[in-house]
Amino acid sequence: MAEYERSQHDVLIVGAGGAGLRAAIAAADAKVSVGLVCKSLLGKAHTVMAEGGIAAALANVDDRDNWRVHFADTMRGGQYLNNWRMAELHAKEAPDRVKELEAWGALFDRTADGRILQRNFGGHKYPRLAHVGDRTGLEMIRTLQDHAIHLGIDVFMECTVIALLKDGDRVAGALSYERDRGRFRLHTAKAVVLATGGIGKAFKITSNSWEYTGDGLALAYDAGAELIDMEFVQFHPTGMIWPPSVRGILVTEGVRGEGGILLNREGRRFMFDDIPENYRNQTADNEEEGWRYTQGDKSARRPPELLTRDHVARCIVREVREGRGSPHGGVFLDIAWIKRRLPNAAEHIKKKLPSMYHQFKELADIDITEQPMEVGPTTHYMMGGIRVDGDTQMSTVLGLFAAGEVAAGLHGANRLGGNSLSDLLVFGKRAGDYAAKFASTAAAPRLDPTAVDTAARQALEPFAASASGNGAISPFQIQHELQASMQDLVGIVRNEADMTRALGTLSQLNAQAAHVAVSGNREFNPGWHTALDIRHQLIVAEAVTRSAIERKESRGAQFREDFPEKGADYGRFNIVVRKGASGAMELSRRPIPPLPPELAQVIEEMK
Ligand SMILES: Cc1cc2nc3c(=O)[nH]c(=O)nc-3n(C[C@H](O)[C@H](O)[C@H](O)COP(=O)(O)OP(=O)(O)OC[C@H]3O[C@@H](n4cnc5c(N)ncnc54)[C@H](O)[C@@H]3O)c2cc1C
Repeated sequence: MAEYERSQHDVLIVGAGGAGLRAAIAAADAKVSVGLVCKSLLGKAHTVMAEGGIAAALANVDDRDNWRVHFADTMRGGQYLNNWRMAELHAKEAPDRVKELEAWGALFDRTADGRILQRNFGGHKYPRLAHVGDRTGLEMIRTLQDHAIHLGIDVFMECTVIALLKDGDRVAGALSYERDRGRFRLHTAKAVVLATGGIGKAFKITSNSWEYTGDGLALAYDAGAELIDMEFVQFHPTGMIWPPSVRGILVTEGVRGEGGILLNREGRRFMFDDIPENYRNQTADNEEEGWRYTQGDKSARRPPELLTRDHVARCIVREVREGRGSPHGGVFLDIAWIKRRLPNAAEHIKKKLPSMYHQFKELADIDITEQPMEVGPTTHYMMGGIRVDGDTQMSTVLGLFAAGEVAAGLHGANRLGGNSLSDLLVFGKRAGDYAAKFASTAAAPRLDPTAVDTAARQALEPFAASASGNGAISPFQIQHELQASMQDLVGIVRNEADMTRALGTLSQLNAQAAHVAVSGNREFNPGWHTALDIRHQLIVAEAVTRSAIERKESRGAQFREDFPEKGADYGRFNIVVRKGASGAMELSRRPIPPLPPELAQVIEEMK
């Protein structure tokens, strides 16, 4: 084996967002040695961008809330494709995880009597999101990081994992490269936790940061793990759309939670036009009732702007397609209108939504206390991901765990806002606990030197392609074409013909990727980094497209204009993607186990 920088740990955690940090804390608490690798600087993970809050049935603002309501809301939002065990654990454990965060120093907004304040969010029956203005992710990362750094965890920053290594059927470690110096690092570990986040950069318009290239999903897939629910990509209804340079940046659902309304170019509040049958009982049927709900009136039902994200996004697309959109191809989101209801509205908006106020003022020259915002859907979140055991978070590969956005199951066909940050805390902890448990009884793994050298050699191929100059192609061009194709052909409204074309494009891009070329040297070389990222993006894009073709129905985040209704049978299985023996992608259907009677009863009671 060639010479590499080396490290050895019981548990290696890949990713330092909310899930990775929480897993690291849990594993370190179990007194095993922990290594934590992250692509960017510690504290810079995508979690830091989270705005609206953490969903947990603390019942601080509405005492009717409890885990059963949260569980039923999550299952309904996911259209019952969820892993019900995860939904149960999540609803039961989220309150303790939030209180623990508070005990570690997180400064949440407060109720008048000093408890953690909770706000309304789409799909949640009661005000449930613990928050810090609209900067909740920042507080969460700060708190977790402050707590973690005292636990003796070895941190490898600006270090990207490019391959998982195995010893027979079990995971044995990972190979990474240091982004600044370009050197390889070999990590040996008895257990590995993937916490690498989502895939947003597979699309052109996204709220996600540069790191979201789906690395964890592709690494797990290559290592033999199963992925599920890959067709379910969440398009958040409200991203900025103007000016073009800021297109896709998120406008938090908190705006609607605080009373913001959606209007078309005719000034009509179009969300009242289409309320899904399964939410009719819980949704206000007039504007007055909707406003009272946002102000805490327990007898009122929520306004239709707070329906689930999949539905709101589709209503916006409908308005735009039918010619009632805003000048730049979206609709209007208006919070300034609350001036008609609240005497101190401008101050109230600035206090509740400080980031949104600054974001629009600085990026779009819009004062949201005076003017409406122009918004449209943006690729936001990946419901699909690595299939894990609900209790332990172990994937289908021995010793390989996953938590956070990279894992699948909790959210089914559609995630409710706020349920990601709670997911990170609940299942980050579980992944860390069980990875540590696994590592304490596992023997030290053996690394296969040939596999290590092969992974390193393949990573350097783009430099060789550049030297040969033979039909070489730029990684940026491939990435750009991949994003455009996914946006146009596998986006918010899908059909078989478009998606088949997308598969054709992906196949061409795969062929081109074999000749991708980069110049320069290995020290901080963005071309080389992108050449390695697109390998992951191509796997993820193909899995999304194939799964979306396979699901011949519309459900949750997947809308097929050629199959606009739900298919009865499609509610009974998840679509599984795995790498076949030939190296080709294989799909299968995995039946969803029946709900235990006590959980079925909870859902029935909450209807
Ligand atoms: C603008 C915005 C606002 C949001 N607001 C909310 C909200 O209010 N409430 C809510 O519940 N959810 C919200 N979400 C969603 C939520 O923030 C994310 O789903 C969540 O933060 C993901 O956390 P994570 O720990 O899984 O991954 P991340 O926080 O993205 O962390 C991923 C980590 O993996 C590392 N990594 C990735 N690939 C590699 C690799 N190959 N090698 C090494 N390291 C790697 C990265 O460097 C990073 O450290 C929001 C999302 C966005 C974009």
